[in-house]
Amino acid sequence: MNPAYRDDEGMKRILETVDKTFSPAEIEKINKAYEFACAAHDGQKRLSGDPYITHPVEVALILAKLGMDADSIAAALLHDTVEDTSVTLQSISEQFGAETAKLVDGVTKLGKIPLATKEEEQAENIRKMLMAMSNEIRVIIIKLADRLHNMRTLKHVAPQKRRDKSLETLEIYAPIAHRLGIRTIKDELEDLAISYLDPVAYGEIEESLAAQSRTRKEFLEDIKAQIRQRVTALIPDATVEGRIKSVHGIYRKMYMQNRDFDEIFDIYAVRIIVNTVNDCYNCLGLIHDLYRPIPGRFKDYIATPKPNRYQSLHTTVIGRAGIPFEVQIRTWDMHKTAEYGVAAHWKYKLGMSGGKIEEGLPWIQQLIDRQNDLENVEDIVRTIKTDLVPEEVYVFTPKGDVKCLPMGSTVIDFAYAIHSQVGNKMTGAKVNSRIVPIDYQVKTGDIVEIITTSQQGKGPSRDWLNIVKTSEARSKIRSWFKKEKRDENIAEGKAEVEREFRRNFIRLPEPALQEFLQKIAERLHFGAVEDFYAAVGYGGISITRLMPRIKDDYTKIVKADNAEVHIAPEKKRTKSSEGVIVEGIDNCLVKFARCCNPLPGDEIIGFITRGHGVSIHKTSCVNVPEPGRVSPESERWINASWDKNVREEFKSTLLVSCLNRVGMLADISGQLAAMHVMIHDINTRHFKDGRSSFLMTITVSGVEHLKSVIAKLEKVSGVLSVERSGG
Ligand code: MN
Repeated sequence: MNPAYRDDEGMKRILETVDKTFSPAEIEKINKAYEFACAAHDGQKRLSGDPYITHPVEVALILAKLGMDADSIAAALLHDTVEDTSVTLQSISEQFGAETAKLVDGVTKLGKIPLATKEEEQAENIRKMLMAMSNEIRVIIIKLADRLHNMRTLKHVAPQKRRDKSLETLEIYAPIAHRLGIRTIKDELEDLAISYLDPVAYGEIEESLAAQSRTRKEFLEDIKAQIRQRVTALIPDATVEGRIKSVHGIYRKMYMQNRDFDEIFDIYAVRIIVNTVNDCYNCLGLIHDLYRPIPGRFKDYIATPKPNRYQSLHTTVIGRAGIPFEVQIRTWDMHKTAEYGVAAHWKYKLGMSGGKIEEGLPWIQQLIDRQNDLENVEDIVRTIKTDLVPEEVYVFTPKGDVKCLPMGSTVIDFAYAIHSQVGNKMTGAKVNSRIVPIDYQVKTGDIVEIITTSQQGKGPSRDWLNIVKTSEARSKIRSWFKKEKRDENIAEGKAEVEREFRRNFIRLPEPALQEFLQKIAERLHFGAVEDFYAAVGYGGISITRLMPRIKDDYTKIVKADNAEVHIAPEKKRTKSSEGVIVEGIDNCLVKFARCCNPLPGDEIIGFITRGHGVSIHKTSCVNVPEPGRVSPESERWINASWDKNVREEFKSTLLVSCLNRVGMLADISGQLAAMHVMIHDINTRHFKDGRSSFLMTITVSGVEHLKSVIAKLEKVSGVLSVERSGG
């Protein structure tokens, strides 16, 4: 045998890599397979000019690195012998046993890949692959390794074939690797495919990465050190690793999600590996304490593993230099599954029997079952492309676009997955051409047509919030109510707030009330009180839940204002020592009616309210029935009078009409200050004819006091009239 057609160096690396637990018999088997393959491929060359044997050796090395068993590695060394040489399956079976022969046969059958451009042949290939996967998962792993090495050496084939293979890799092999959870193979397959399919973009990304590679490395080292210092203080055996995202990952975000290179958050990823699930969550707490997390970027794949069994906590945080990066936190077990996927079963002996997986990955079987009723070639390709898995359903639009939704999603979720406008305008849905109820749960393969209306003002129903499964649909429905029904929301929210205030006896005069509400709104990060009302209206915040805090604040204000008299001392008025004697009722709860603001000296009358004590009106108030006139509530009107012995302060509102001149307001308030009259509130209006009016609430001790205040104000230059407002 010509020594030029050997790859002893490569073989040495395989033997160095293989599991230390391999028995001498297994090592012997691999050696024998190598010699057998060398002989079979003697004199054959690859397009690159390398001896052909380098290919099976490299494929076997990939599998050795994945931690696959001796049968798989032997089969990899032999995988092209039956196809490309005179060797028969029979002879392999005789020399290496039925197990190895079965694997070689499987790979050979899969190896008969027709040109990827012919869809029917591609589909046939996929059928075989599916069969292989269900019977013997190692066949597909060997096939993936075979494809990976072919992709690594693809530059030697003709340009058209290069593109065909790359596309096939991207659309079929990489998704399979992903489904099997073999991240290392998936990432490299994708990166290689992109480098051939879009060499310009690939080059640009590589350049962008290389341009700052030193800074990037320093950045990564820096955050790794920070994290390590913080985490190991609490979890001493935590391992911290850093990496830069794969080129394909960046490519996908840049070109498919239309982001700038700078906008991609997870170019950097830091991985923390710990021993227990508990430590994962502890670690997350430390990270969120160390860096500011970006809202909406936290994902708990520990509680909800991905269909390929991937588990980790993901969060994106902002580093000290303002650069965001992703942090993945997982246990060692999760790490093995994340890196090697199905292959980890062999490497870590996680309970596999032969090549069959006893439980888990049921999606493969489903795919097989399903492909029997998929006569259409496109359907099969589409099925594999969309990674059919049981935890997710794949649903089609009438045009054939596919949407992936979580299991249990309804037609409403589907509508919102297409576009929020489709969801908002939805009136019904057809599944496989039949009208279905709005809470119909979609199944994989369903063709869903959303019936929409162009009618203005139509929108989702609030009930949908209880029907939908996806948070995407839920938030889109909420945001519709938030935007489209703003006025309604404000009115509804205002009513609800007022109701709740009444229930909790929160009473403030108008200006102070506005100020109080403004403070509440600001604390909740709303710019205006209206926004606060709107949020209450559409259910974004719960007013009842806020009430304890609001009541606290209210109590503080009322107390503070007894000293400062910024806000009317309402408390004084609610006591029965209010300065009012109500006929026949001692110590009753007394309120002054807002419609007429009675003052000592005014003739007054009481009205027994339901639950709010006696309301005191001026007898001249429009709300008081004329004497002698019988109304259904006649018996609730009750005589009241001022207690002459009590002198208290009362609020009164004045309407001042005046000329609109500079300093007008200053003169008025100066005059009031001179009389030691407190102003609680002033509302100003300017009219086109050059007049202004001030509606102001002041404190007086009674009617006589008020009269003197009015007289003084009428003397201020430019004042046209001063009237008592509210009767
Ligand atoms: Mn091959």
